[in-house]
Amino acid sequence: MEEIHWADVIAEDLLKKSKKHRIATGITPSGHIHLGNLREMLTADAVRRAVIDKGGEAELIYIADTFDPLRKRYPFLPEEYEKYVGMPLSEIPDPEGCHKNYADHFLEPFLESLEILGIPVKVEKADEMYKEGRYEEAIRTALKRRDDIARIIEEVTGRKLEEDWYPFMPLCEECGRINSAKVTGFDDKWIYYRCSCGHEGKASYRGGGKLTWRVDWAARWKILGITCEPFGKDHAAAGGSYDTGKRLAREIFGIEPPYPIPYEWINLKGVGAMSSSKGIVIPVREFLDVLPPEIVRYIIIRVKPKKHIDFDPANLLELVDEFEEGIKKKDRAVELSLVGDVEYSDIPFRHLVVVGQIAKWDLSKVFEILERTGYKIDEKARRDVERRIKYAKNWLEKFAPKRLKFEIAESVDPSTFSEDEKRFLRTFAERLSDDMKPEDIHNLVYQVANELGLKPAKGFQAIYKAILGKNYGPRAGYFIKMLGIEWVKNRFMQISCE
Ligand SMILES: [Zn+2]
Ligand SMILES: [Zn+2]
Repeated sequence: MEEIHWADVIAEDLLKKSKKHRIATGITPSGHIHLGNLREMLTADAVRRAVIDKGGEAELIYIADTFDPLRKRYPFLPEEYEKYVGMPLSEIPDPEGCHKNYADHFLEPFLESLEILGIPVKVEKADEMYKEGRYEEAIRTALKRRDDIARIIEEVTGRKLEEDWYPFMPLCEECGRINSAKVTGFDDKWIYYRCSCGHEGKASYRGGGKLTWRVDWAARWKILGITCEPFGKDHAAAGGSYDTGKRLAREIFGIEPPYPIPYEWINLKGVGAMSSSKGIVIPVREFLDVLPPEIVRYIIIRVKPKKHIDFDPANLLELVDEFEEGIKKKDRAVELSLVGDVEYSDIPFRHLVVVGQIAKWDLSKVFEILERTGYKIDEKARRDVERRIKYAKNWLEKFAPKRLKFEIAESVDPSTFSEDEKRFLRTFAERLSDDMKPEDIHNLVYQVANELGLKPAKGFQAIYKAILGKNYGPRAGYFIKMLGIEWVKNRFMQISCE
């Protein structure tokens, strides 16, 4: 029996509690948002779809932590950005000047990516939530119950908090930093603070600062009515923020904490564990020019959240083979990965990579070759090829291993071939005929080599040398069929008859 997909298992758990769900995701837009961040979004989206498939209601909330401070000047920022360290991302100018602020600069391409990936989200920007006063009640509760909160955090983390600790980070009106001031007291109207810049002031309950992280998390569950949330395994560790969140939710805010989905990291081969603060990062948006969205979804959705993902973009073809096989078998992970009304034809991606190179990416030539190799090109196939051939080209240029790249040699010099090679090519060309299928052509290589007393490997080498000018290439049967029997015969005869 086939194992039930993890998203369906979670959806069933959720539906036992309620029919309606709000699934939260949250990312700090402090730099380019990368494939690792996508695991959170796709885990949430797979569950959203699974809940809906089972007759429930579910929506996805994306909370952008735009009110978080800039932690340091990242390597991609100009030197003058040193002065913005500690200020909220929403209050810092866009490093490239094209958006309203720093946060939006990194957020916008990510939201565009979500759209391409078919992930519908309701976006909530933390700075706006604070400024609109949606946190006001939670801030009042947190300040009044400071001692209880401190006790919970100390009990869960085993860490001692300072005597004058408050669960609130005032935004200093003098230096603009949100991580430098300490609360000194509060009344119904104001929160009083002293900043390390020397300034003493009062902050408003609406946008004058934010709750500290652990408290903020639990407060937003209440404000937004969150019932389920995936988060990185660091938050799930014993004594981590989910453990405090659970208790804060129940004991301070009077709600049930959301159903947790802890997930493991994604390791991108050659890039290391992906973390946006470390520098080398491939933005999600860039990936989506190279890989079809359904494949990007599949990379993540096929694996249980608790399992680590190692992804090497160079080994994409094996993964796509599996995906295409899954379409035929109506595999659940594949089903949860398809975006919109995309329809696949029976032409493998692997094939498009080879055909595209032979056709030098000329679309009408691509169709001609596909028809020659036995594919029926109807409307569906045409649309499918037009869409996926772009990805085949971009993937080949950006990530494919060298052995998959080739170019048809304009001409080859017959004098570089041995007598054995010429004999092989001539006999092979004489036996080739138009009605042969790729497997027949493949078998013919063995037949002719055997008859001539040559190793089959020598035969294959002669073929690649004659076509590409090097001694390796794509699977010979299909390759020759794609190139056209006539063309191959001529080329081989030319070489062997001189
Ligand atoms: Zn910008
Ligand atoms: Zn200050």
